Amino acid sequence: MIHLDVPADPALAKVWDALPDARVVGGAVRDALAGRPVADFDLATPLAPEAVMAALKQAGVKVVPTGLAHGTVTAVMAGRGFEVTTLRRDVETDGRHAVVAFTADWKVDASRRDFTINAMSMARDGTVFDYFGGAADVEAGRIRFVGDPATRIAEDYLRILRFFRFYARYGRVPPDPATLDALKAGIPGLARLSVERVWHELRRILGAPDPAEAVGLMDRLGIRAAVLPEAAAVSRLAGLPADPILRLAGMLTGEPLALAERLKLSNEDRDRLVRLVATPGARGSDDDGTLRRLLADHAPADLIGRTWLDGEPDARRRLSGMPRPVFPLEGRDVVALGVPAGPRVGALLRDVRQWWLDGGCVANRAACQAELARRANLPNINVKR
Ligand code: ATP
Ligand code: MG
Repeated sequence: MIHLDVPADPALAKVWDALPDARVVGGAVRDALAGRPVADFDLATPLAPEAVMAALKQAGVKVVPTGLAHGTVTAVMAGRGFEVTTLRRDVETDGRHAVVAFTADWKVDASRRDFTINAMSMARDGTVFDYFGGAADVEAGRIRFVGDPATRIAEDYLRILRFFRFYARYGRVPPDPATLDALKAGIPGLARLSVERVWHELRRILGAPDPAEAVGLMDRLGIRAAVLPEAAAVSRLAGLPADPILRLAGMLTGEPLALAERLKLSNEDRDRLVRLVATPGARGSDDDGTLRRLLADHAPADLIGRTWLDGEPDARRRLSGMPRPVFPLEGRDVVALGVPAGPRVGALLRDVRQWWLDGGCVANRAACQAELARRANLPNINVKR
């Protein structure tokens, strides 16, 4: 029998006091066993949702009925949410969604969870209930379906991608042949998933500390081609930092905008992907002038992202310590020198800015004013010498 130290968490304790028969389930137990930090606690209970709500209210804990139809309510304590879900069994599955019924049987609830490492629960006294050998699998780095992999995948094809989410983070041994076959055989079912769900999982896979092995396996099985046909350069993941969009840019072999639109990326993610691809590289720029020129026209974060994609650690190091040059003149400086307001103001400003760029962005305000006066054929009245 495994025992864990119950986390010293006053907010969790308060929720648990109201629901003494509840257990912490899923990721929190897995991560505690793996010795990893636990971010949030999900609880399960044999109590029906109405009874859960009543017990929490009775104890003065705020409850929000976040998913009452599926048996989930959220207890809000000290500004944090604790999901409390009534034990469930699947009545019917359709490849993504399940019709569920409540149960009081912990093992039945555990058996509908996806992987052995996600199917454990921990009681209030720290006792871990591990019905399917999840603790040994955490230890071995083995991602194993609860039950028959092909059956579990046919119930919910999202589990193919979830497999790689957990394989990327916890996997240390390759899946067994039955799992490999089931993952591959499930590929046609991936088309039934919404692109939002697919991208949600891909983002988590690409955000893992080192997803190269997991994405390599997805590629070899044909899963990468099914969900990410525009990003075939999987070998380019090696060495990139844990940044999903940067890694996606690295793997990209198709059009960034088309990919972003197909997967319905947020505007922020889409813009960043497009910019990373469009930002010029610092390749071969061994003088700081070239780097300053790049910095004058592009966001530092994009240039630094580009150095990752181009494998230019030296440029990255120098860019990181460099202030961003700012062209020292504005339209009103041109007018102040006596140029009448109009299109010539903008044209002169652009010319002088180009001159400033060509010079490596070192000319100061006075030098730029002098150059402006020279180009505009005006006496350089405003410049102090
Ligand atoms: P993470 O730290 O990545 O959030 P997690 O284990 O908390 O990991 P969630 O997606 O938040 O993962 O799901 C919580 C738990 O619910 C899982 O541990 C698993 O037991 C169960 N679960 C979630 N989605 C599924 C699914 N599609 N099929 C079966 N069980 C699932
Ligand atoms: Mg979670």
